[in-house]
Amino acid sequence: MSSVISPKFKVAICGAGITGLALAAFLSSAKNSSDIQIDIYESKKEVSADGSGIAVWKRTWQVLKQLGFEKDCTERNIRTPQEGESSGPIFRRSDTPDNAIDFHSHIMPYGPMFLSRPQLLEVLQTKLNSDNCKIHTSKKVTTYELASNSIKIRFADGSDTTADVFLGCDGVHSNVRATLFAHDSALAKPIFSGQLAYRSMCKQEDIVSKSPDHPALTQTRAWCGSGKHVISNPFIHPATGQKFINIVCFDNIPGGPGVEFEEWSAKVDVEEIQKLFVPGEWEDNIITLLAASEPPTRWAVHVVQPLPYFGRGTVAVLGDAAHAMTPHQGIGAGQGIEDALFLGRLLTHPTRTRDNVPILMEIYNEMRVKPAQRAVDKSRRTGEMYDLIQLKGEGMDLKKLGEAIGTEFSWLGLGGVEEDWMRAEGMLKEKLGLTKTK
Ligand SMILES: Cc1cc2nc3c(=O)[nH]c(=O)nc-3n(C[C@H](O)[C@H](O)[C@H](O)COP(=O)(O)OP(=O)(O)OC[C@H]3O[C@@H](n4cnc5c(N)ncnc54)[C@H](O)[C@@H]3O)c2cc1C
Repeated sequence: MSSVISPKFKVAICGAGITGLALAAFLSSAKNSSDIQIDIYESKKEVSADGSGIAVWKRTWQVLKQLGFEKDCTERNIRTPQEGESSGPIFRRSDTPDNAIDFHSHIMPYGPMFLSRPQLLEVLQTKLNSDNCKIHTSKKVTTYELASNSIKIRFADGSDTTADVFLGCDGVHSNVRATLFAHDSALAKPIFSGQLAYRSMCKQEDIVSKSPDHPALTQTRAWCGSGKHVISNPFIHPATGQKFINIVCFDNIPGGPGVEFEEWSAKVDVEEIQKLFVPGEWEDNIITLLAASEPPTRWAVHVVQPLPYFGRGTVAVLGDAAHAMTPHQGIGAGQGIEDALFLGRLLTHPTRTRDNVPILMEIYNEMRVKPAQRAVDKSRRTGEMYDLIQLKGEGMDLKKLGEAIGTEFSWLGLGGVEEDWMRAEGMLKEKLGLTKTK
């Protein structure tokens, strides 16, 4: 007697960044994942990210804990987040050189943890089960087409493949979003936020030799000015023990959001930031800090316009592909990780069939579109506060601005992921007609 083996449910993921790997981890490690085949297509030669760290706030930590991150962090000696308030950056007005002043000592609503991106990618990959999940590198997705019962995915090398569900975790310049919203170029393409971010660092010894009491040596600081700001934080390199200061300078360019800025990222000379923060207009502390800086990388910060939905039919976008935002609240990756939890759990729910995926997408939209777009708005508003834009408002002064910054960050101390999932599951049962009537 021959037995009929039903074909596996094929999930294709575009992009092996933080979001793509988090999604794959939820799919691959779920109890219900034996009938799933997960293929991750990554355009780079290997899974990699730069070494800078990301803050992990309460909700993100609640999600990562579902993947067993508590044990992973303990094993790697990584400090996990702390319940309760902790001290954060000191905010200083620095564009009034004769009168520079600390105006807010930030108390964070929750002691976040800081994870380096390579470390996060490494731990996420340990969650992938090789029986049901495979990463294909050097595979750049160009587009996809909907066929009668599947999706045809095309690659830059001329090859193609098929899947039952296609999930775009391919970042701000997403080709999956470009196809999903091909009918609306404003949504398909990212737009320039109007902000340039210059990321660099300097050796602490170079600052000590010129200014032994420099405030950047001891604590994270936000050096604020009209239309520009600098974030500095001291750190010790975990491998070499050498002491550095991370520096990110933000500048708003004339014309603002939407201006065409084609060059996405470029290595530039230190002089470029020194021209933005000049002696006489900025306090000496900033001038000293930037004089010691290594040549920075300039990023044109791009964002995605608010999308009406993240998923439709059997295709969805997650993470920066769905809601790339400015980085002023340190929450972009956290939002992608939340997308991964909800869509991952929906696609491995015991009630999932090939036919009801569009219903799962409706619930994914319901749970994630508004919260992610709220995070986008909060990040933008926080950046405006760092650039002192609110000071132009009537009745606003530095003290009130400091309080407003505190209020803007307060939601990062809130949890509730499990409660939200229960709501999603309730919605799912209702849509599938599985709710018991009294
Ligand atoms: C200065 C700065 C500080 C930040 N700080 C924080 C923080 O503290 N906390 C936080 O939560 N977030 C932070 N963020 C945001 C965070 O970095 C992003 O939200 C996050 O990295 C997005 O992850 P992603 O996987 O969605 O996209 P990406 O990281 O862009 O990954 C996309 C992946 O898809 C691949 N890819 C792209 N196109 C294709 C294609 N066509 N085919 C196949 N593969 C493709 C790429 O190679 C990449 O591997 C910060 C951002 C910046 C700029």
